[in-house]
Amino acid sequence: MPAPLHVLILEDQPDDAELALHELRRAGFAPEWRRVDTEAEYLAALDPALDLILADYSLPQFDALRALELLRARGLDIPFIIVSGTIGEDIAVAAMQRGAADYLIKDRLARLGAAVGHALQQRRLQAEKLRADQLLKASEQRFRALIEHAPDGITMIDGGGKLQYASPSTLRILGYDPSEIIGRDPSELTHPDDIERLWQVLNDLVRHPEQTFTAQYRFRHKDGAWRWIESTISNLLAEPSVGAIVFNYRDITERKQAEQALRAAETKYRMLIEHIPAIVYQAALDETSSTLYVNEQVEAVLGFTQAEWVADPQRWLKQLHPHDLDQVLAGVTRAHASDTSIRSEFRMLTRDGQVVWFGDEAIVVRDADGRPLFLQGIMLDITARKHAEEMLETERYWLRILIESLPDLVFLKDTESRFIIANKVTAQFMGAASPEAILGKSDFDFYPQDVAAQHYAEEQQIMRSGEPVIGREKPQRDVAGRLHWLSTIKLPLHDHHGRTIGMIGIEQNITARKQAEDQIRQLNADLEQRVADRTADLARANAELQAEIVERLQLEARIKQHADRAIELAELARLLAEANRELQPLFDTIAQHIVQLLGDACTLTILSDDWKLMQVKAIAHVDAEGMALMRALLTEPYPAHEGLAGLVVQSGQAVLMPLISAEQAQARIKPAYRPYLARFGMASVLMVPLRARGRILGTLGISRVEAGRPYTEADQLFLQDVADRAGLAIENARLFAAEQQARAEAERANRAKSAFLASMSHELRTPLNAIIGFTGTLLMKLPGPLNADQEKQLTIVQRSGKHLLTLINDLLDLARIESGNVELQLEPVVCQDVIAGVVENLRPLAEQKGQRFAVVAPAEPIVVSSDQRALGQILINLINNAIKYTDAGDVQVELRRRAQGADQSAEHAGTAPGLSRPERLVEFVVRDTGIGIRAEDQAKLFTEFGRVASAEVRAREGTGLGLRLSRQLATLLGGRIELQSELGKGSTFTLVLIEG
Ligand code: ADP
Repeated sequence: MPAPLHVLILEDQPDDAELALHELRRAGFAPEWRRVDTEAEYLAALDPALDLILADYSLPQFDALRALELLRARGLDIPFIIVSGTIGEDIAVAAMQRGAADYLIKDRLARLGAAVGHALQQRRLQAEKLRADQLLKASEQRFRALIEHAPDGITMIDGGGKLQYASPSTLRILGYDPSEIIGRDPSELTHPDDIERLWQVLNDLVRHPEQTFTAQYRFRHKDGAWRWIESTISNLLAEPSVGAIVFNYRDITERKQAEQALRAAETKYRMLIEHIPAIVYQAALDETSSTLYVNEQVEAVLGFTQAEWVADPQRWLKQLHPHDLDQVLAGVTRAHASDTSIRSEFRMLTRDGQVVWFGDEAIVVRDADGRPLFLQGIMLDITARKHAEEMLETERYWLRILIESLPDLVFLKDTESRFIIANKVTAQFMGAASPEAILGKSDFDFYPQDVAAQHYAEEQQIMRSGEPVIGREKPQRDVAGRLHWLSTIKLPLHDHHGRTIGMIGIEQNITARKQAEDQIRQLNADLEQRVADRTADLARANAELQAEIVERLQLEARIKQHADRAIELAELARLLAEANRELQPLFDTIAQHIVQLLGDACTLTILSDDWKLMQVKAIAHVDAEGMALMRALLTEPYPAHEGLAGLVVQSGQAVLMPLISAEQAQARIKPAYRPYLARFGMASVLMVPLRARGRILGTLGISRVEAGRPYTEADQLFLQDVADRAGLAIENARLFAAEQQARAEAERANRAKSAFLASMSHELRTPLNAIIGFTGTLLMKLPGPLNADQEKQLTIVQRSGKHLLTLINDLLDLARIESGNVELQLEPVVCQDVIAGVVENLRPLAEQKGQRFAVVAPAEPIVVSSDQRALGQILINLINNAIKYTDAGDVQVELRRRAQGADQSAEHAGTAPGLSRPERLVEFVVRDTGIGIRAEDQAKLFTEFGRVASAEVRAREGTGLGLRLSRQLATLLGGRIELQSELGKGSTFTLVLIEG
């Protein structure tokens, strides 16, 4: 079934219309039609849905050309075919010009089908073209609108590098109207720094026209500012419709700025994280919270570099303080499960083992969908705070101790007088078991109502006024009713802002002190009474004392005078005692001292040995002129009976004339002295005899020039005392001089004797040796036999000769020593060796006499600096004597060191010079149990020829020189010989020498 063809037939002849319809059907169309023949009907039937209008060219009231016009006027584009009986060429042209689709002659209607088909085809083609045109137009409009309204701009550059096109948005983006810049070279407006890069891109674009490139560069806005541009650039030079390089560009200045801002913010954030004074970390959400990131601070705080810390994700666990490990891991688990941050505190060890306290806050960071990503944490070094807390804790503890150690009640109360702090003493006083038991309570809970009220009122007053109570002493009953005295301090307590928040109380229990004070008061009262009594006694005693003091002072003045004199006298006495045989200085000293003491003039007169003459030997005067005058007058000796001195010398009595008149003086004085009288006068005179051992030596006289201070008897006694001492000194000096002279003579004589003995002994020894020698020869019977008598006598001769030789040798030695002719050779000598040498010779002698002979000496050698021969000689003498003066008995020789401090007294048996305490002493002790020596004989043994005058001694051969010689030698060796002996019991001679 073909689609129906809607046809409007404009025809007044229905047959003609049928004919046309017939033709249409024949041609295969299925016409649905309507026939009209007036303009009105036509207009009413016009409908865009019509497919075809068939119009008879001429109608009675209407015509086809008019219908065509109306159709066009309606704007309808329906194929319009004119059918006419007859029609001229010109009409056909006019119809076609007016838009008719075709033109047919009625008798040739057979063509109608083809004409309609063609018209419909034409119409369809036209409609399609129209639609295509409309589509094109619409698309172009859209495209243009797009370009014009797009945020991006488009420019095109032709092959010559000039701007060929700029989209209108260029005005908005870069401020240029396209017309302003078309034809310009865009590189002029490009930032010089970016041109190079842009050229690079364009080069690439030319080489690879199929690709699109993107470039960012700065382009100058019309307002002069540089804008960042991002262009997508395509090479469409080869596209004929374009023939240009197309820049699709947009302003990205803000994006650039945002990027820079972002970068800056990121840097800032990173700096912040890295320099925040805390360790910032990120950790995985695994069981051990493995480290993912840590900031640089880890090095400053823990000593591990950032890299080291991150390289070992478990490092943080290794550095964790072992005691805190479990707690921290539990914290990690909690943090993983929590939406909020989890805080914890723990310790870590630094690289070098220091403990650092951290306060940590960690939170799980999640993505936008709430999925957990990692753990983010921050660790703050809170070591200082921890220490401070510990300190605070310690301080609190100390404070507590302090409060508890105080013997006083110490407490703090709030503004309502309730206890905040109290020590044990307070609790005890309140009758509570412990300080805690009274906290929060007030005095009303413990004391009777009235007492508590009183305290409350007082404390409220203190807190209100700020006026403290300090040191108030008041009796108070404790809860048990016992009375105590308390010394109270109550102060208001302020907080940091100065607000009163309570009060401080310190109460000292001073009951004991109060009691003591009471006692003291009582005692004081008693004491005061006693003091009053005593004061009266004292006043009396004082009056007596005053009187006594006056008396004493007078006495003291007198004593002082005596003392002064005594001192002078002592000084004088010292001078007199020290006086040597020089007499004149002695006389002068005496005279000067006496003038000093008794003034004004003094003369010392000495009597000649024959008592006939006197001479003034010393003069002193307080006045230099008086001194000179007296010297001039009293030079010559004068007769021993003249003047006052004569009187004194003759009578032996002192003369005291306290007051003397000029006449008396004139009469008494010796004539030579008179000019002095005339010049100075004499008001008082005193003269005493100078005596020594009952003999008068001269006089000592004094006189005063002026009256007023007469000499007294006390002065006389004093002067006589001085005169007696002076007399003795003078006598001693004289004796000393005489003795010196005698000694010098004796020494001379002794030396002469020694010299004589020395020469004599020498002279004697020669013949004596001959006698002994020849006697020996005879006794050996070399010249011939001897009879018994001869032999006996010759033996006596020989023994006597030998004795004489010993005597002479000893004398010779002694003489040599005493004349100072001995030269000792001092060298270190071993004492044991010397003793051995001596004993070797003498032991047979002792054994002959049946004595026990022993030597005792320390094993270690004792060395002395000595002359071997002299030491040997002393020992020979001592040991020989011991053997000689012992019959049957013991002789012992001992060598020993003297115990320190056991040095026997220096005066004992004579001290040799050079033996002083600090030196070590060596003793050669020779003991015997022989005849012994009486004490009174002991001293003389050491003198020449000193032998004890007893039969026992006389019976033994001896010279009495040995000990004398030994002592002299000992002295020369710097030592001494000591002796202890008892008659009949034995003797001990000890030679003492200095060791070393
Ligand atoms: P002599 O040659 O007489 O022994 P000394 O000078 O040696 O001379 O002695 C003097 C005197 O000292 C002796 O004569 C004797 O009286 C007495 N004497 C010395 N040694 C001893 C002694 N060991 N026992 C008793 N008397 C002694």
